[in-house]
Amino acid sequence: MRQISHIVTRPGRTLSDPPVDIPVPKDFATVPGIPQHSKDVDFYSREYPLQRQQVEHAADTEWAPSVGTPEMQHYHHEHQAVMEPFYALMNASGDLEPTGTPTGEDVTANIRTLKDVPQGLKGKHIPPICEVRGEVYMTKSAFLALNKRQAETGEQVFANPRNSAAGSLRQKDPSITASRPLGFFGYAWGEMSEMPAASQSGMIKWLEACGFKTNPLTKICRSIDELLAFHHDIEMRRASLDYDIDGVVYKVDRLDWQERLGFVSRNPRWAVAHKFPAQKATTIVKGIEIQVGRTGALTPVAKLEPVTVGGVVVQNATLHNADEIERLGVRLGDTVMIQRAGDVIPQVLEVVLEKRPKDSKPYHFPKHCPCPLHTPLVREATAAGEEGAVFRCTGEFACPFQRKEHLKHFVSRRAFDIDGLGEKQIEFFYDQDWVKEPADIFSLQSRNREIKLEAQEGYGETSVGNLFHAIASRREISLERFIYALGIRHVGETTAQALARGYGTWQSFHDAAMKLAKGDEETRAEMDALDQIGDTVIDALKAYFSETHNRGVVERLTKQVHILEAEKPASDSPVAGKTVVFTGSLEKMTRDEAKAMAERLGAKVSGSVSKKTDYVVAGPGAGSKLDNARKLGVNVMSEDEWFVLVGGR
Ligand SMILES: [Zn+2]
Repeated sequence: MRQISHIVTRPGRTLSDPPVDIPVPKDFATVPGIPQHSKDVDFYSREYPLQRQQVEHAADTEWAPSVGTPEMQHYHHEHQAVMEPFYALMNASGDLEPTGTPTGEDVTANIRTLKDVPQGLKGKHIPPICEVRGEVYMTKSAFLALNKRQAETGEQVFANPRNSAAGSLRQKDPSITASRPLGFFGYAWGEMSEMPAASQSGMIKWLEACGFKTNPLTKICRSIDELLAFHHDIEMRRASLDYDIDGVVYKVDRLDWQERLGFVSRNPRWAVAHKFPAQKATTIVKGIEIQVGRTGALTPVAKLEPVTVGGVVVQNATLHNADEIERLGVRLGDTVMIQRAGDVIPQVLEVVLEKRPKDSKPYHFPKHCPCPLHTPLVREATAAGEEGAVFRCTGEFACPFQRKEHLKHFVSRRAFDIDGLGEKQIEFFYDQDWVKEPADIFSLQSRNREIKLEAQEGYGETSVGNLFHAIASRREISLERFIYALGIRHVGETTAQALARGYGTWQSFHDAAMKLAKGDEETRAEMDALDQIGDTVIDALKAYFSETHNRGVVERLTKQVHILEAEKPASDSPVAGKTVVFTGSLEKMTRDEAKAMAERLGAKVSGSVSKKTDYVVAGPGAGSKLDNARKLGVNVMSEDEWFVLVGGR
């Protein structure tokens, strides 16, 4: 049995201490203006099932100094360079092993050529399974030299060091990779059968002992002031570093604390990226292009005279929406100030009016979608009933842009994740009339007699075989991925998970959605009671399943795939299947922890007390919910009693 203190207390605290609120960044990978980093070379041992894990390090968030509770004095810093995802394998004896898995590119032979990566793990304490993560990078000077050489020989010139590092790793011929000056920093790990150290910094030392290069600028700090001083120091040295960085990452050093802090979605609470300020430049707007997204939202994009901002050539900048264009007063031919922060699409900040051409005319946002349907645009009302900022095409699935975007979403990494079927291929297959809706993807192979994909440029027998294999391997899909892949508005990954967990099977989710579409109030209430599901999602589901076309798309698709049942939460726990309400100020766990714990034990957590409530766990200061529970005769317990009930799980 695990110790209670292991689960419910905050780092460094005992059960009798009051809880400390460590602010939890809200789903920060999706915060606009923040890049999503991918990097990683992962070395897997052969015994380990070959799946890329998503427990990567910090996504980014605004820096919140209030993170600095006294409990979190031990930080570990790490540099952040931005890299492409790849993996290679390393078995227990430390040899790099090639892989046959279809979920990534095998760059093993290329990784072997990196001087910063050992050919075998050194040292005595090598666990049987160890997965090492890190980033491959190219220095700025090497990048410039490489581009010069490439240009001289008439070969591909890269846009930035990141692309050239990625391109160099993807080479079919390892001798080309070897000829390119790539560096590697190990900074993390994935699956480990034993932990060689108890802290982040200890693990870094272990990586070094194994023979990996690690970033020499990594440092342990013991106060917020030290953190900020470090950030400042690195910022000062940024320009003189021979690789691009866009900030530093702070990590809680103790691994047991990291574990307790856990994750929000995929984002660790124990790591925070603190970015440097955005970089700016001025250039000329050559055009404004309107892009249509999956939900029909129109996004204007400024096409720019190429300009280098922080080492990256920028040609596009987002203008967000019609209101933003009006606010900026931007016209074609205007000189504008743009800014770029990390990997995100650069933004237009302001127009340099002195440089405006005399004959320029105000820009008018189109009244119709640029799609062949030419549908009139509508502005969707916001929740407050005001006119929204976004124009949408009402064509939905009839609008080819939206259909394409839906298909791209369908095959994306978090959805069906079909290897060899990315945005580019979807565009192509769609334009050829081969794939018009998700179900068509699964009938491609049977139609290939007419299509003859192997005869297309860029395809051969092998790659076509691989593609069909990849598609076939996705005929079995988890319920949450399936729901997410449908691309229903407001149904992101977390929501899809909640729905999958709530309904268990596709059949019962689908039944509920259909009842909802018919206006069934009981189904609505039932859905509302699910964790994380509210009116916005319910309305979106209702709208989606009310549409005949959507129902057709879903029906045809479900004939092609096998949707697995959702993983069942623990059913042998004393609270499995019970509905629990937490109220008052909890002292031994935060609300989030309490909720996560109850859900892990198979209970449903509700925000309000009703006849259906089984338990109310009340801390000091509990108000109306407690009164209500007593009135309804619901079982009320203290936090301590709750722990007794669940047996310290
Ligand atoms: Zn349209």
